[in-house]
Amino acid sequence: ATAQIGVTGLAVMGSNLARNFARHGHTVAVHNRTTARTTALIDEHGHEGTFVPAETPEEFVAALQKPRRLIIMVKAGDPTDAVIDEFAPLLDEGDMIIDGGNAHFLDTRRREKKLRELGIHFVGTGISGGEEGALNGPSIMPGGSAESYKSLGPLLESIAAKAPDGTPCCTHIGPDAAGHFVKMVHNGIEYADMQLIAEAYNLLRTVAGYEPDRIAEIFRGWNTGRLDSYLIEITAEVLAHTDAATGKPFVDVVADEAEQKGTGRWTVQTALDLGVPVSGIAEAVFARSVSGHTDLRRAARSLPGPGAEPLSADAAEAFAAQVEEALYASKVVSYAQGWNMISAASAEYGWDIDLGSTAAIWRGGCIIRAAFLDRIRTAFAADPALPTLLADKEFADEVGRAQDAWRAVVATAVRHGVPTPGFSAALAYYDALRAERLPAALTQGQRDFFGAHTYRRTDREGSFHTVWAGDRHEEAAG
Ligand code: NDP
Repeated sequence: ATAQIGVTGLAVMGSNLARNFARHGHTVAVHNRTTARTTALIDEHGHEGTFVPAETPEEFVAALQKPRRLIIMVKAGDPTDAVIDEFAPLLDEGDMIIDGGNAHFLDTRRREKKLRELGIHFVGTGISGGEEGALNGPSIMPGGSAESYKSLGPLLESIAAKAPDGTPCCTHIGPDAAGHFVKMVHNGIEYADMQLIAEAYNLLRTVAGYEPDRIAEIFRGWNTGRLDSYLIEITAEVLAHTDAATGKPFVDVVADEAEQKGTGRWTVQTALDLGVPVSGIAEAVFARSVSGHTDLRRAARSLPGPGAEPLSADAAEAFAAQVEEALYASKVVSYAQGWNMISAASAEYGWDIDLGSTAAIWRGGCIIRAAFLDRIRTAFAADPALPTLLADKEFADEVGRAQDAWRAVVATAVRHGVPTPGFSAALAYYDALRAERLPAALTQGQRDFFGAHTYRRTDREGSFHTVWAGDRHEEAAG
């Protein structure tokens, strides 16, 4: 056996990952259910490094050095279970199965437990960066046992993206499903980022009255500042692109119905279960959903709007600067919410996730890579128990400075009838957290009124119920 690592599942992600390992000098065993893919990989890219093609699972396993490290890169869901069931009986105690697919973290928990009983390390691993990342350096989020990381970590780190300071974008996130969980939240944050950027574009287009190429310029400018990120960069590219067939801006010929593969939805569903408010991510998922409801949109098209005129040229320029502030502040909020979610899951499942190092490995390789993530890393390095990013002094100061612009943008959007669910939800969250008193007190009163659900008081310990149907005296409850 000569291979340090093996990859089964050689569609685009698996092939590119295998090539990445080979290009870094590792001997890679490769296997796919349908052998044609294996043959194609060797024919087209065999010269890039040392591959050991295998036609059968037995050949594949025999090619791997012990302890065996076997990466599964197949379609997520039932295929992953099928492949695990096929390979597990061929493995020995101490071997590692690494699932690099987009698995739901609860599936990963189940699989890890089952394989642990067989003495096999199951390493659910989030991989971000798409096809390009898989080939040239993804951000890698491995879960599984700390023991497995000792043997696997150096291999994964060798093919991972490098952050601007040279550190690999790969770290052991935590045991069992911690890696897949964190990857899910990454994708949720990605949804929120994309929605906020889309809202910024929409405001510049409809309220400031700018054309897409002008907006591309503005985004390029933003990309040299604190918003510097992959998503802002590609936004400028997309906006500057002209459709060859019609000569129109590309963005004007694409159907305005956003699709989704489901990881954003998983994030929100999981956040609801954990009781963590992630309104920025939720609004982003719902905004895609609204866009896809052509039936509802058609039925409501004739509803009246405010009919506000676009801004004057001077006002538009000032407004564009305000939109940058609103975008930045809203982004801080959605990242704060995402980190709350990671922190809550870490406590719930006993994963002991280092919140700062999660930010560190997203600085390169992944879709949300950004200069900004280094700031989050620093914030958690200064205070690992930081309850929210908004409590970090630097973020608090920045968001505080942005708030006038942020409010002005949301108010303008409302006046012009332009939906900004992301900006608005982020601002509402900010205001809710800083409020001295929330109307939740009234909610508690209502709950006690109709359901005797009881309430706590600000001035005394204990739970209480008011006898609403009777003389309204208060009783101690429970
Ligand atoms: P696909 O998700 O399209 O999956 C195709 C691969 O799965 C093929 O190799 C196929 O084998 C194999 N497969 C499907 N069913 C089975 C089965 N029952 N038994 C054995 N093999 C099976 O490939 P991708 O490369 O796009 O993605 C691979 C994984 O990586 C997925 O889990 C995906 O979610 C994840 N991922 C994808 C990213 C992306 O940008 N595409 C980014 C990050 C993660 P065959 O050739 O025989 O049909």
